[in-house]
Amino acid sequence: MAHVAVVTGGTRGIGLAITEELHAKGYKVAAVYSGNAAAAQEAAARLPGLACFKWDVGDPEACAAGLQQVADQVGPVDVLVNNAGITRDGMFHKMGFDAWREVMRVDLDSMFNMTRPVIDGMRSRNFGRIINISSINGQKGQMGQVNYTAAKAGVIGFTKALAQENAFKGITVNCIAPGYIDTDMVAAVPEEAMKKIVAAIPVGRLGRADEIAYCVSFLANEKAGFITGATLTINGGQYITG
Ligand code: NDP
Repeated sequence: MAHVAVVTGGTRGIGLAITEELHAKGYKVAAVYSGNAAAAQEAAARLPGLACFKWDVGDPEACAAGLQQVADQVGPVDVLVNNAGITRDGMFHKMGFDAWREVMRVDLDSMFNMTRPVIDGMRSRNFGRIINISSINGQKGQMGQVNYTAAKAGVIGFTKALAQENAFKGITVNCIAPGYIDTDMVAAVPEEAMKKIVAAIPVGRLGRADEIAYCVSFLANEKAGFITGATLTINGGQYITG
């Protein structure tokens, strides 16, 4: 029977590419978005059977209720891709608490909010794949992104501890740390800054969303059961970790 996969932020950018890849591989995909209904409608029209749900991954009650809807309408969740994320950039000495809290809420609290409601079911079925999207900037730090860097480094820690707790239950928990990928999020970076970023990428270009999606589907595969607690860096050689 086809596995059920939930992809947060699954109707735009990297998340949309993940939705498309898993859909093409035969998963029953539920894509969660927060407000861009046009993008969700476009994806649903293009991908037969795709279920789109609107809720805020930073809201624990909305996640619990939404995931119950997914279980009722699509089926028990086998694969969870925690991809949704935002930035609220600015130098720390000028950063207000709102910009700190909102990034923590959407990028880090969401890990708890989305994973806590599905973990019991995965444990009872002795199978699960959880793939969390961190960032190169969570690994190396980034000026102007103290909030985002802290949240994305937190995603890596969350992944490691959760992997240890659930390894014996057939659940793998892994993390992908993308470098700069050509999406709306990166399009917001000013042109001059972007030239410098691309110059620092040995591959000589931005990454593509489908390159991240391919690795998500690799980690989601039943055959990837011995890979857990890992952080896969996909950044064109920009930051190479041991
Ligand atoms: P985009 O800004 O292109 O898309 C973000 C997606 O997340 C959208 O689908 C959006 O929904 C959804 N989303 C945002 N906030 C919420 C929320 N509160 N609740 C539910 N869904 C929400 O981002 P990218 O595709 O570029 O990034 C995806 C992930 O990859 C993020 O976690 C990001 O931090 C990470 N990343 C991206 C990199 C890049 O270079 N692009 C590099 C490294 C990491 P809607 O469509 O409704 O607005």
